[in-house]
Amino acid sequence: MKSIAAGPANAESAAESAEQSSGREAPNGKSPVNSSPDSPASIVAALQARFDAVAIGAGATNGAAAAGPDPAFLEELAARSRELESATPQEIIAWAVGRYFPRLTMATAFGPEGCCILHMLAAIEPRMHVFNLETGYQFAETLEVREQFERRYGLQIELHQPSTTVAEYEATHGGPLYRTNPDQCCADRKLSVLRSSLVGMEAWMSGIRRDQSSHRAAAPIIGWDKKFGLVKISPLANWTKQDVWKLITDHDIPYNPLHDQGYTSIGCWPCTRSVTFGEDERAGRWSGFAKTECGLHTSD
Ligand code: SF4
Repeated sequence: MKSIAAGPANAESAAESAEQSSGREAPNGKSPVNSSPDSPASIVAALQARFDAVAIGAGATNGAAAAGPDPAFLEELAARSRELESATPQEIIAWAVGRYFPRLTMATAFGPEGCCILHMLAAIEPRMHVFNLETGYQFAETLEVREQFERRYGLQIELHQPSTTVAEYEATHGGPLYRTNPDQCCADRKLSVLRSSLVGMEAWMSGIRRDQSSHRAAAPIIGWDKKFGLVKISPLANWTKQDVWKLITDHDIPYNPLHDQGYTSIGCWPCTRSVTFGEDERAGRWSGFAKTECGLHTSD
């Protein structure tokens, strides 16, 4: 498959193009992409022409969760996923934008993978809906990364919060639930918020990589997320940790400075520690518990 912005230089120039675009009113007030022949919008259009016009997900929002998709739909997703196995992340994102925008969203905790996707999105479709699950327990450094992305790329990254403050939540449960029942805490402060955020969407994008853990090893590029009832797109599924950090360093992409202090995977501060040499990159999450995932990217 031909690359549209496979090289970092292309991604960077496209990002600059998106940064410079102005003048047209976007539905959400964000900067629109420009429409010159070499603009990200034109690149997306050219990409779309290369894929056939099967309307994956047409009319299927996460309201379809109860009924579930039919087998033909699932097979179509699988076929498209196979086609995109050899595509670059930028091509996959462009395909997803062309197919699902504006009913396409992404949750990010500003991990290195999310930062790479945000950098690419700034070039391809900076108006895409992006949000952060603000549990109230995030590191200050994490929230600062969000501001850096907004300043540098003009992205608007919404903060989606639970209905209770941390103080209210802990008062209700007689103290911090993350110490005794982190599954419940994640369910209340992440998953329930995510479910609300996905209402009306057809697809969501994730930054998971297959080599991050055994849970993620079989993640398709495009698949049906039965847990949330919508299409899930993982443009970095085939990337390695080295690929991610190369893009970040090549383009000086903002990232969480805690990574420089041995935090390889960063979530809420009570459930995150730095790792030592030789440990799994997600070993610092929920250390001391069997839990390895918050539930956003598991099927059960
Ligand atoms: Fe609670 Fe920890 Fe889950 Fe954050 S990661 S929601 S603090 S259990």
